[in-house]
Amino acid sequence: MMSAHDSEQLARMRRAEAWIFDMDGTLTRAVHDFDAIRVQLGLPAGRPILEALDALSEAEAAPKRAHLDALELDLARLAQPNPGARELLVGLRDRGLRLGVLTRNSRRNALVTLEAAGLLDCFLPEFVLGRDEAAPKPDPAGILHLLEAWAAPPETVMMVGDYRFDLEAGRAAGTATVHLDEAGAFAFGPLADLRVQTLTELCALVIA
Ligand SMILES: [Mg+2]
Repeated sequence: MMSAHDSEQLARMRRAEAWIFDMDGTLTRAVHDFDAIRVQLGLPAGRPILEALDALSEAEAAPKRAHLDALELDLARLAQPNPGARELLVGLRDRGLRLGVLTRNSRRNALVTLEAAGLLDCFLPEFVLGRDEAAPKPDPAGILHLLEAWAAPPETVMMVGDYRFDLEAGRAAGTATVHLDEAGAFAFGPLADLRVQTLTELCALVIA
């Protein structure tokens, strides 16, 4: 199904010189059960995991961080690409555009995930950033880091993600934002400049 798109936003997207993607649930199939992970780590319900860890003393947090890394590494090894992910990334790469990944996962797990999903060759490893390379989303620090590395003005960059934090980080950095929502509910309203249900749909819009 094709959603209605603002022609100005479409034109901006087609002129973009760089693209930054969230990883889990965006490039790869959503497999993280964050509620189950919170239970396994003994963290309170309803609070984002990284922020809940930050609220603990370092002595309490350190073993939980190691446990989280291990749980996420198990998931990383099983990662599957979302439909259209490779087609989109290869299409953008072949146009000479810059590509980056910004994830709240760790960088090591991100590289394992992208490799397992058959997407790693679409990225230069230095442009795959995790939660330890920059303050995690919704903080825009990771996007700002990539903009600086690329000497790219924010208005020439797209930020794509399936969660509020991805769109908030893009907004704060001044990039355009694309919300991927398989369910088509698009709950984050004005945080998104463009809305798609699949990466196949996004690919058709941008590599048309
Ligand atoms: Mg995500």
